[in-house]
Amino acid sequence: MIIMSVKPFSLKSFREYLSEGKIMASYCPSCKKVHLPPRPICPNCMGKTNKWRELKGEGIIKAYTTIHVPLTKMMSQSPYTVGVIEFDEGGRISGLITNARETDRDLIDLRVKAQIVKEGEEIKLCFKIIS
Ligand SMILES: [Zn+2]
Repeated sequence: MIIMSVKPFSLKSFREYLSEGKIMASYCPSCKKVHLPPRPICPNCMGKTNKWRELKGEGIIKAYTTIHVPLTKMMSQSPYTVGVIEFDEGGRISGLITNARETDRDLIDLRVKAQIVKEGEEIKLCFKIIS
């Protein structure tokens, strides 16, 4: 018998999956909702039967803000835009929108594609506008 090891539903596991090139969310089979970051208990229905689900990495911008006074490590990219992205499968997460400066449009509801970016030891999820 093969016992599949299941990673705990946590931000740490989320980052480990990212380093493997996967965007993994928790999915609640009871209420059919997807949550990010992954968590063991569904915040919608308190269900405890969550499963891992891989997301395709496309979604839309639901909110955004442009930062003009950046963190020190982000100084070279200032001003930069951070958005809240809702994935097609559900689940929301915030991340840097890498090409926001190339457009002067309102970014709400524009389509984005996720990009997994490695900076030294750090791994993060960024988004590129594709529509
Ligand atoms: Zn649920």
